Amino acid sequence: MAHRFLKCALFSLLFCFVALPARGWDDVGHKITGYIAWQRMSPAAREEVIRILRKAPEDSHLSAFYMAYGPQSDDVRKREYFTMMPTWADIIRDRDFPVRQKKYHRSNWHYSDTFWRQVNGKAEIITDKEPGGQGLVKLVEFDKVLRDASVADPEKALAIAWFMHIGGDLHQPLHTSGRHTDREPNGDQGGNLFLLEPDGPPTGEYRYTLHWFWDSIVGRNIPFNDARSEQDYLDHVVRSMTHRYTFESVKDDLKLGDYPAWRQESFELAVSDVFSSDLARFKEPSDEYRRNAYRVSERRLVIAGYRLGETLEQIFGKK
Ligand SMILES: [Zn+2]
Repeated sequence: MAHRFLKCALFSLLFCFVALPARGWDDVGHKITGYIAWQRMSPAAREEVIRILRKAPEDSHLSAFYMAYGPQSDDVRKREYFTMMPTWADIIRDRDFPVRQKKYHRSNWHYSDTFWRQVNGKAEIITDKEPGGQGLVKLVEFDKVLRDASVADPEKALAIAWFMHIGGDLHQPLHTSGRHTDREPNGDQGGNLFLLEPDGPPTGEYRYTLHWFWDSIVGRNIPFNDARSEQDYLDHVVRSMTHRYTFESVKDDLKLGDYPAWRQESFELAVSDVFSSDLARFKEPSDEYRRNAYRVSERRLVIAGYRLGETLEQIFGKK
């Protein structure tokens, strides 16, 4: 009974989260990278990572989510838990849990912006301004924590969850870009100030922004059909993406451990493909823009999953 209650409570937590506006890849994006990472890991690495995650501090609720996945085969339960885990860093934004929110949520760990302005279609980097956000700094730090044998499991558990989340976020081009324009002289907050809906006062609770367009791109292109389980949905999406971008085809581009390079790739895509010449404010992007955006996003999600999985394998697999 207690178990059932907890399970309901946990799913209502997840549900509350889903109803919030998306920030960073939305939860579908993060689950895709989690799922792909899991596929890259050996049984030994999987066991070790799950063991550590379950030692997470109780008040973080990270370990408690394990309870929500069952009863079913142990393998399925672990995979589903691991797949969901990269979304923990967004779940803890929830203000209905103020203690957890204050202790664990860090909004500026989700991005690492280079400030720039567009001059004749090229990027001019604004050098007299510190990069925005701690994403890259934290990703490097968490990599060290994961490799440090002297770090206790509870701290390492949080580091795994943050590593998976930030590693995913920094593959979203707009999490690396702060574009300055006359309209946005201090930067556009990763496209959050760039509207794709008509100018004027908001008509609904949330605005249709360029940032949201990129964050939520998978769910809009492959809508979730309620008739099937989330796991079936992820199976389907991941299979099609990893078929298009096989491990073999990208394995020479993984640059494991080179986190500045991961971010730089995203930034270059922000310049070339996010703010491409046919993008305009206050209107729906063209069909061609949408198609290209989806193609770019698929590749970013897949390569993020491969990179994160291979890194965890390197650290936690049998040497
Ligand atoms: Zn995020």
